[in-house]
Amino acid sequence: MSARAHILPVFVPHLGCPHACVFCNQRRISGTQRLATAEDVKNSIAQAAAFLPEGEKRQLAFYGGSFTAIPAREQEALLAAAKQALDRGEIDAIRLSTRPDAIDDTVLRRLRFYGVETVELGAQSMDDTVLRLSGRGHTAAAVERASRQIKAAGFQLILQMMTGLPGATDETDVETARRLIALGPDGVRIYPTVIVKDTALYESFRAGTYREHTVEDAVRVCAKIVPLFEAAGIPVIRLGLNPTEELSGGAAAGGAYHPALGELVKSRVLLEKARELLEGVEPGSRVRLTVGRGRTSQMAGQHRENLRRLREEFGLAEIKIREKSEADGENMSLSIEM
Ligand code: SF4
Repeated sequence: MSARAHILPVFVPHLGCPHACVFCNQRRISGTQRLATAEDVKNSIAQAAAFLPEGEKRQLAFYGGSFTAIPAREQEALLAAAKQALDRGEIDAIRLSTRPDAIDDTVLRRLRFYGVETVELGAQSMDDTVLRLSGRGHTAAAVERASRQIKAAGFQLILQMMTGLPGATDETDVETARRLIALGPDGVRIYPTVIVKDTALYESFRAGTYREHTVEDAVRVCAKIVPLFEAAGIPVIRLGLNPTEELSGGAAAGGAYHPALGELVKSRVLLEKARELLEGVEPGSRVRLTVGRGRTSQMAGQHRENLRRLREEFGLAEIKIREKSEADGENMSLSIEM
């Protein structure tokens, strides 16, 4: 299934989840606490049918909770509605998200039977201390075991990780990325920690026992992590929580909540690449950075902040950006004008 498929979301909020991850309040994140039903699946598909153009790929996605941890009968009711739509050609694929310790052979057989294509696993961290302090209730070994089972059973595997959880450092977050890469996922989502009201993390933050993972912290560590996934050929399909009215309206009490976090990280990655290229350039030089098509504003940064920093750090007389005509987004080159 192409990554450009239109996602038809069905939220499964906290349904059946016996855990209490310190950062999680599914009701606030998904905006609903009602249990999803087969009717919701049908409605989501009918709504999409009403506005999506003919031929547009549709992927039904069970998001928000730990799908395979809900009672088998409820899983089957939701999956049966999805499978019916799949068989009728109303959707093209089914995906769901779940926890590493809610995966076993019986579960995977059920998902296969109902035609699920993609399983997203919330790994969050590969550091057992961070997992424990975050109340995840599973270990890094459980992520490795579940990932291998999912891949061996022929599903597409998407891994989710978080940065800035309790006990995490840039080093543990980078190490998490390396260990996820070793599992060979088909894509990853990176969610820098947001402090949501009515969570244990919010209480720790207010008590001063958890230090906020700011937008700047998230941009710094993600700018180290994203190039690792890119170099391994693993697409980062999401960076940062999707903005919602509720989060923007005050439920996000702190942490790395920014509607354009992904753009900020891309901009920082380009800043770091430019710094490497400029190493050893004579102060007073006039330089031109050539970037891939569509990358000019990312290279310049918000309010041209990247260019200002580079000019100051390297004592440049002038720095300009030139955009290549071809869509070669990754490679950047430097020319020095005499
Ligand atoms: S396992 Fe998922 S749904 Fe359950 S508390 Fe943790 S983050 Fe929330």
